Amino acid sequence: MAKIPHILIIYTGGTIGMMRDYKTNVLKAFDFDRIYKRIPELNHLDCTIDSISFDDPIDSSNMNPFHWNTIAETILSNYNKADGFVVLHGSDTMAYTASAISFMFKNLSKPIIFTGSQLPIGDLRTDAKENMITAIEIAANQFNDKPTIAEVCIYFEYKLYRANRTTKISAEQFEAFDSPNYPDLAESGVHLKFNKHYFLAHTYNEKVILRKINNKNIVLLKLFPGISQAVVKHIFATPNLDGIILEAFGSGNAPTSDWFIDLLKETLKRNIPIVDVTQCVAGSVVLGKYETSAKLLEMGLINGYDITTEAALTKMLYLLSNADELTDLKTLFESSLRGEITPI
Ligand code: ASP
Repeated sequence: MAKIPHILIIYTGGTIGMMRDYKTNVLKAFDFDRIYKRIPELNHLDCTIDSISFDDPIDSSNMNPFHWNTIAETILSNYNKADGFVVLHGSDTMAYTASAISFMFKNLSKPIIFTGSQLPIGDLRTDAKENMITAIEIAANQFNDKPTIAEVCIYFEYKLYRANRTTKISAEQFEAFDSPNYPDLAESGVHLKFNKHYFLAHTYNEKVILRKINNKNIVLLKLFPGISQAVVKHIFATPNLDGIILEAFGSGNAPTSDWFIDLLKETLKRNIPIVDVTQCVAGSVVLGKYETSAKLLEMGLINGYDITTEAALTKMLYLLSNADELTDLKTLFESSLRGEITPI
């Protein structure tokens, strides 16, 4: 008889794990040991569940690489015990954390499903229950006694997305996330419909590898018409700067002014990698398509293709943190490591 899957829930904070104190209207973290009392529907799922909570659950605006490492270590130390993982996380920075975790694990053979909610669990119209129950169902779903999906995902409002393709698009709608450059991996309706042809290839036989992420001095610079020389010069002169993500216009275009081009050249000479990503929600960088990106291609900017800003930032942190092993940053950045980009 098939073994019943075992799921580990990791609660990090955010609205999903909160209850409203109706006297004061303040949101407070609820005691996760009482999760079955709060969501009795969990008793009907075809899996066993354990949960671990951060000692001090946090609003996801306070997340940083230290917490990403804590989540990843918790997963690794329970890797053989659980068949799948559900990470409950605030939605505000979920796309960053989930993207970071996707890079940190190589040879993943089990699902890591992030979810959260816009309304707390006890609220009448809450989205927390559906998001949590379906995220657990997805993590527990098996095919031929193996997890159906084995990658890092975000499940929100009836859709399963590849984590490193997501971005938060709404601060108030239940449909808070989108994956503009990659199709949904599953849809939850009357049935759970998996779009298996979009999954990453599974690597059941290789040992899972965790590489951590350290804090680095990287900068995200969003270009805008009229951005001043003084500002860009100052930012690029940041002491011990490790890398730059340049959010450029359209298909990766930037001003052609001499001062701007010279600043980029000088920075590259200091061995500081610069990645060109688009500030458009959807579509890809095509370096060299216009005169306004031809110089960028020529001087050796890294092509971010259709990567999200969240994935670009965390990918750069991941590569810089593991530079001893992952030596050729430009080549690795321009390749798909975990399905995060579509190189043209
Ligand atoms: N501010 C909350 C957080 O990101 C919002 C949420 O939980 O969705 O932690």
